[in-house]
Amino acid sequence: MTTSAPITQDVHTIPRKLPTGGKTNLVGLTREAMRDALIEAGAPEKQAKMRVGQIWQWIYQWGVRDFHAMTNLSKAFRAELDEKFTLEIPEVVSKQVSTDGTRKYLVRIAGGHEVEVVYIPETDRGTLCVSSQVGCTLTCSFCHTGTQKLVRNLTAGEIVGQIMMARDDLDEWPTPGTRVQGEVRLLSNIVLMGMGEPLYNFENVRDAMNIAMDPEGISLSRRRITLSTSGVVPEIARTAQEIGCLLAVSFHATTDEVRDKLVPINKRWNIEALLEALRAYPRVSNSERITFEYVMLNGVNDSKEDAHRLVELIKGIPAKINLIPFNEWPGAPYTRSSNNRIHAFADIIHDAGYASPIRRPRGEDIFAACGQLKSATERERKSRKQIEAEAGLND
Ligand code: SAH
Ligand code: SF4
Repeated sequence: MTTSAPITQDVHTIPRKLPTGGKTNLVGLTREAMRDALIEAGAPEKQAKMRVGQIWQWIYQWGVRDFHAMTNLSKAFRAELDEKFTLEIPEVVSKQVSTDGTRKYLVRIAGGHEVEVVYIPETDRGTLCVSSQVGCTLTCSFCHTGTQKLVRNLTAGEIVGQIMMARDDLDEWPTPGTRVQGEVRLLSNIVLMGMGEPLYNFENVRDAMNIAMDPEGISLSRRRITLSTSGVVPEIARTAQEIGCLLAVSFHATTDEVRDKLVPINKRWNIEALLEALRAYPRVSNSERITFEYVMLNGVNDSKEDAHRLVELIKGIPAKINLIPFNEWPGAPYTRSSNNRIHAFADIIHDAGYASPIRRPRGEDIFAACGQLKSATERERKSRKQIEAEAGLND
């Protein structure tokens, strides 16, 4: 059931031809789109598919971004590629490393916009938290990103480019010609939990994740990718069909009254509509449970009654409940629930048979925790002004 509250989506994505001297960026193109681009540039149609496979391996398996280094292609073809195409990924503006090893990157994308990307190392894996939009059109009241106005969708190249940037920084590309298998990867998992609502940038997120999962490319298993949505109900089934990754949902409340305030998209698709879509999620099973994210806000959504209601609501859905202690930011209208409250809440859910891990905040000293990614924009606005000033646009 839905109400008619409008959620406007005034978002655009820049065209794929970046202002790099009219050259097309090959990073982020699907295999089909790359094939078309090569043919358009004069490559013989019969060879195009094979050439895509070769270029693909250089870019996504070995992290090579210089056409001249692609030694299994003829010199003439390499020169042609260099003339017509580029291999661009977001540029690192700054990097901060937390005392716990978390790395927060500020990266610049076309147009001078900036987004944040966070790498979280753990003993047996490492997770990259990727952004899908500059800012977010939604306005969840506890989220710092949601207070940011400027929004544009990231291109698929800018999304997969965040993974490539992190692999550069972690120095984690296999030597060209080799294929490392069975090793523990530094960057082993992706969560689409950075800035933005991934399901309002569906096609670009899908294309980027399909590149991340491609066995001849970055080759991450779909089970190591988790997409988090605030509840864009009409796109949920498509996520299973066209991406096939795991799903997390920003649930955060157990009544529509409270959820309307915390996650305003609830006015459009309420708890009942959301749960219906989750029950129907084509891939859900006991081994691929849906993660319910639940931010613990002092006195707002953290009572024992809430915990019991939550258990009732999700009955029948293979689920895990991830409790997130609220990460405070300057001027935030909420405070974090006490540890006692969080543990009492977790116990009720656990006793009902659900895993209820409490997320340990990471990178707090560098402001890298969930929902804190905004500072980039303030700098971004400044830098945009600077860019305009430099270009003489302000006279
Ligand atoms: N837009 C998507 C994904 C990005 S947010 C979504 O909302 O799901 C990733 C997670 O962090 C979401 O569950 C979000 O609700 C949560 N979050 C946002 N701000 C937070 C904060 N200040 N403290 C803790 N979690 C927060
Ligand atoms: Fe956007 Fe997610 Fe933040 Fe809500 S929680 S404002 S959907 S980024």
